[in-house]
Amino acid sequence: MIGREMRVVTTVSELRAARASATGTIGLVPTMGCLHDGHLALVRRAREETSTVVVSIFVNPTQFGPSEDFDKYPRTLEADLAALEREGVHVVFAPPADEMYPAGFSSSVEVGGITSRLEGEARPGHFRGVTTVVAKLINLVRPDRLYMGEKDGQQLRVIGKMVGDLGFAVTVVPVPTVREADGLALSSRNRYLAPEERQAALVIPRALSAAQDSFAAGVRDAAALRGKVVAALAAEPLARVGYVSLADSETLDELDMVTKPAMLSVAVRIGRTRLIDNVVLRP
Ligand code: AMP
Repeated sequence: MIGREMRVVTTVSELRAARASATGTIGLVPTMGCLHDGHLALVRRAREETSTVVVSIFVNPTQFGPSEDFDKYPRTLEADLAALEREGVHVVFAPPADEMYPAGFSSSVEVGGITSRLEGEARPGHFRGVTTVVAKLINLVRPDRLYMGEKDGQQLRVIGKMVGDLGFAVTVVPVPTVREADGLALSSRNRYLAPEERQAALVIPRALSAAQDSFAAGVRDAAALRGKVVAALAAEPLARVGYVSLADSETLDELDMVTKPAMLSVAVRIGRTRLIDNVVLRP
């Protein structure tokens, strides 16, 4: 697999063949496509650290709720493949849905506990879809390292829990969130934003920074820190708060006082677009 050509495969059997010819360490970057610099940060890290990089592009139907944006989720395969080729990716796995979920598919992987809150509470079944597809991808690719963005903070922790609990032989590598120059975290869903909504979305990084500033000034009371975020978000008429959480960075249990690393995370609707973001506060 060390050739100059990037291989694009769409079936499980082609993927297995590509895997069989791989040498050295393998890095896997699971994505839903519509790639941006956030995804490419994962790819670049994988290129630095592993000898064969496999990127999957799969808009996974089972992680979307019935009233969510599965049908309109942006699909930009040609541009994605060109970007991955430029990054020197070795294998792209872009299966159709019935390749991942053939007729009769009836298994799932479910992580308990930390999936019941935040995104799990707002999007019932979401994490079961994520863990099932990522478990399948790990089994097919058998990577040494799995690259996940800190942007999806809870997802990163849920996958870490799955890997630990079930003894998958892979190291989960967290990659810091890539942001636009003005602070907005890159997301495929940012394309849904009309220009005035794009401007309004800046309230999210602004609210997180307000809490970070208070934290840096010594505030450790979690309710006060959450309050900073809520107050900042309230100043933007186009923003509707889903949740504001300040939780133990490992267990995602909500905190009273920040005495250990904590994830401050938000879900905010800007118009019809639901955005999530987070930062970690370290005492
Ligand atoms: P997605 O295509 O949204 O499923 O994302 C695929 C991977 O890219 C996930 O591990 C995400 O956490 C990661 N990712 C998405 N946006 C960013 C970002 N702005 N910075 C870093 N990683 C990201």
